Amino acid sequence: MCEITDGFKLCTCGETITQGMDYWQLKRLGIANNFFDLEMGRCMNLSYDIAGHLLADKILHLLNHANPFDFDYTPIQHDVLNMTFYQKGNSIKFEFYFDNNQWHQEMTLSEHLNKKMIAFQGLIRR
Ligand SMILES: [Zn+2]
Repeated sequence: MCEITDGFKLCTCGETITQGMDYWQLKRLGIANNFFDLEMGRCMNLSYDIAGHLLADKILHLLNHANPFDFDYTPIQHDVLNMTFYQKGNSIKFEFYFDNNQWHQEMTLSEHLNKKMIAFQGLIRR
């Protein structure tokens, strides 16, 4: 089981993701077997209150300056990270993408698309 020292851990320790638990999914384009695995559709726009913006900044900082993953993970160009947190019964979703050796925050959500491209996933422990 992961020990939390720096904000949170993107954990792969084996507990199954169930409703109401904070979780993450990493999508990798190259994992699609063929063109038809790519789901086309509209991305949803994301917006946040101040607490949401602060959380996003914290996540981005950890992604770019620490290693929040609990396994040996090296991001590659165009990796997409989706994170869902639950607060008081409401979910808050974030999307980040890796480009030019840095993680960036995306203000649209593609989580409902490209489910076949999940390379890694697990719970967020904090
Ligand atoms: Zn873990």
